[in-house]
Amino acid sequence: MKSGKCPKCGSENVYFKENPFPIEEARIRLSPLNTSSFDYCVCVDCGYMEYYISNPKKLNKIEKQWEKVSEIDQSRYI
Ligand SMILES: [Zn+2]
Repeated sequence: MKSGKCPKCGSENVYFKENPFPIEEARIRLSPLNTSSFDYCVCVDCGYMEYYISNPKKLNKIEKQWEKVSEIDQSRYI
């Protein structure tokens, strides 16, 4: 999506903004991350939205604390 093309509808009317919403609002919506800053990409044709954590320290923390999807034993969920 950061390439400027919507993965859902193929539109190129994709807009990007760094941290467009207040800190508290972002915290409420994703409290486990306690993340203060997101970058957003929005397609204004279909409304599809993606957001990215912009703080490398937060990403580093997730890398250390979360489970890597490719290393999870998938049989746990069957
Ligand atoms: Zn779209």
